[in-house]
Amino acid sequence: MSVAASSQLDKAVREHYLRLSQGGWVQVTYVWVDGTGEGLRCKTRTLESEPKALTDIPEWNFDGSSTFQSEGSNSDMFLIPVRIFRDPFTLDPNKLVLCEVLKYNRKPAETNLRHSCKEAMEQARDAHPWFGLEQEYTLLGIDGHPYGWPQNGFPAPQGPYYCGVGADKVYGRDIVEAHYKACIYAGVKISGTNAEVMPSQWEFQVGPCEGIEMGDHLWIARFILHRICEDFGVVATFDPKPVTGNWNGAGCHANFSTKDMRSPGGLKHIEEAIEKLSKRHPHHIRMYDPSGGKDNSRRLTGQHETSSIHDFSAGIANRGASIRIPRQVGQDQCGYFEDRRPSANCDPYAVTEALVRTCILNEVGN
Ligand code: ADP
Ligand code: MN
Ligand code: MN
Ligand code: MN
Repeated sequence: MSVAASSQLDKAVREHYLRLSQGGWVQVTYVWVDGTGEGLRCKTRTLESEPKALTDIPEWNFDGSSTFQSEGSNSDMFLIPVRIFRDPFTLDPNKLVLCEVLKYNRKPAETNLRHSCKEAMEQARDAHPWFGLEQEYTLLGIDGHPYGWPQNGFPAPQGPYYCGVGADKVYGRDIVEAHYKACIYAGVKISGTNAEVMPSQWEFQVGPCEGIEMGDHLWIARFILHRICEDFGVVATFDPKPVTGNWNGAGCHANFSTKDMRSPGGLKHIEEAIEKLSKRHPHHIRMYDPSGGKDNSRRLTGQHETSSIHDFSAGIANRGASIRIPRQVGQDQCGYFEDRRPSANCDPYAVTEALVRTCILNEVGN
């Protein structure tokens, strides 16, 4: 297997320099979504004291012509800090700061989907929308081959891998454990993790988060995953169907509730929301991956615990439906529901915005 350059440097030597004191100075790493709508970029600057609030972190800019975000002739883009996390790589007092991207005219960049998401969340604030996203991903070697898979041929068929334990069942747990700890350190509301159905495929969950917080926390959790994988010399992909054939794809199930759904008798409100969703299936499919449904069509085949991309369906404890009501929620008659359609490479701002606009703001049309 080819070895990644990033993982060949001596990490013990690196430790020495990371322990050097910084005086009162602070490194702040600005993180943003690039022009692909999937890629993340970052760059770091020094502040002379620890920022306590967003207002302590200045706006910045970058060359949008190098991130698929603008023409070279008008290339400066603005970085607007929106949420601060602790930096789990260079440690306290250093920060990661998630940013929105604005164009030269201070309008949101095409792939800045946070802007309209935030407007929807503000309109829906009184409903207290909560989300929990289940981010599935697949580890690849630097050569693009699934990590730990035989160089020629395939592992044994699916069955023993989901929530598996043992060197012949799961590949890459070091990364999963490092990511979990790093997210907790950073202040990401990570709620769990498990090995998935396909070997080298994993999941972590973030939530419940209210409103715009959901997208912010998921994007930083993805950044932390990519950054950890860099240290280990592997690559995390969010491709919804990284291996064709009889292997599960990767989704980003969206669990959703409002205050009414969580209150006694809330099942009625869950059913009303599902009724609204049933009328906007094509719209939601368009919002649930960055290609408007093309990527997800490789995954939503009606097989491998998915529903067909062409049909809308819902059911209690049904993992072959578009929408699943967890069995516990059926018993309690209140709680939340799970939209199983979003692709692993979805933009969480687009997904949470679509749910809120359809289910709370009663927007219609496809
Ligand atoms: P699954 O059984 O589908 O694998 P998981 O346990 O992986 O479910 O994920 C469940 C997700 O649902 C978690 O992210 C959790 O935070 C979220 N969740 C739990 N309660 C609620 C709620 N009331 N509203 C929205 N999300 C919720
Ligand atoms: Mn799950
Ligand atoms: Mn899963
Ligand atoms: Mn799920």
